[in-house]
Amino acid sequence: MLEISSITLDNEMDLPLTHKRAVSIGQYLGLSISTQTTFATSVAEVCRVVLEKTFDNVLSFYLESDSVRWFLIASIKSADQSITERSEELKYARRLIPVLNVSTAGEHTVIELRLGMPRNLQISRTKANQLIQYMKEAMPVSPYEDIKQRNQELSNLAEEREEQLRLSTILNNKKSEFLSIASHELRTPLTVIKAYAQVAKSLQNKDPERLSEYLDKISQQASKVNVLIQQLMDLSKIENDKVDYRMENVEFNKFLSDVLSTIEFSYPNHSIALHSSNPIYLSLDKLRIEQVIINLVGNAAKYSAAGKSITINVDISVPNKVTVSVADEGMGISKKDLAKIFDKFFRSDDVTQKVAGLGMGLYITTGIIKEHKGKIWADSVEGQGSTFYFSLPLAG
Ligand code: ADP
Repeated sequence: MLEISSITLDNEMDLPLTHKRAVSIGQYLGLSISTQTTFATSVAEVCRVVLEKTFDNVLSFYLESDSVRWFLIASIKSADQSITERSEELKYARRLIPVLNVSTAGEHTVIELRLGMPRNLQISRTKANQLIQYMKEAMPVSPYEDIKQRNQELSNLAEEREEQLRLSTILNNKKSEFLSIASHELRTPLTVIKAYAQVAKSLQNKDPERLSEYLDKISQQASKVNVLIQQLMDLSKIENDKVDYRMENVEFNKFLSDVLSTIEFSYPNHSIALHSSNPIYLSLDKLRIEQVIINLVGNAAKYSAAGKSITINVDISVPNKVTVSVADEGMGISKKDLAKIFDKFFRSDDVTQKVAGLGMGLYITTGIIKEHKGKIWADSVEGQGSTFYFSLPLAG
């Protein structure tokens, strides 16, 4: 259905306007004068009926095609709910128009008047679009219509402004929420670092074994802060297109196994298995793809219980590309959340209270994979685990 024009029906002064609008549409389409008049009169008549009930009505004109022919439709949407298919008040209008239907749409009643267009008028989509343009540009037919149009424009503008304000408030709130989470996430490891540093200082040369254990804790927490700061910096770089990629030709399986052997010590509670493929060569930025692998394996460990396995598979069954999957046996992700996990700052409600994070990892990972002309996606079954996939093109 193509909307041609619409008018709010606020008071009786709108009645002549509805009549004139219906006539000028009929005229533009080439209807005979008698059809124009009967159509316009039936429209004005229904408008009169609804205006007697309420001032909350809208009249819209549409053109619709059912592949055989075109129909001109006047649809009156009213807040009044007393009018029905059998209402006596519609009797007069019914006599004038071949099809008049009454239906309900939520809290509204919709009265639809349908007029089949004779084939010789050769209505087409182009003609319909020209009519829409014509109605937009048509000069007001009376000072009243002029004022009404200006009022409508002002109210549209006010609505637009309101929407802008609403969006910027949402954005602002999101930003404040993010800043408060980010500062909390940064402060927690720093507090731990400070505490261990103080105890370590008091130990000095007394207990070298505990001292070394505390220094390890300090180093682990410092790495956490480092990752968070790195993510914050990457986020702004990715958003401003300022990431420098240093592409080089790499045998992927060797690279992947090197990366895993350097990171597996960080996940002592999980067993990590790699199923590689025959040698394949890819052009990639080693540091950035390492970051992708760390993010996916890190999440697999973070969102699954100790003792669970993480399986990484390299698949080259599809020509010219490699697909890597990282599967875990963790908590899984609901269908609703699965659609959002790659969005900036998204964190599932199930994890916010339990697991630390900022919701930036997958967003950054997606940016890196896209820059490598690849794709990233995920599958998951709640309570059973998730599998994240990314594919990259082979070096040409
Ligand atoms: P973070 O882990 O810091 O919250 P990410 O962007 O890496 O940020 O992940 C976004 C969200 O996606 C997580 O908060 C979590 O809800 C969900 N998620 C990511 N990986 C997994 C996974 N392996 N298992 C379950 N949920 C996951």
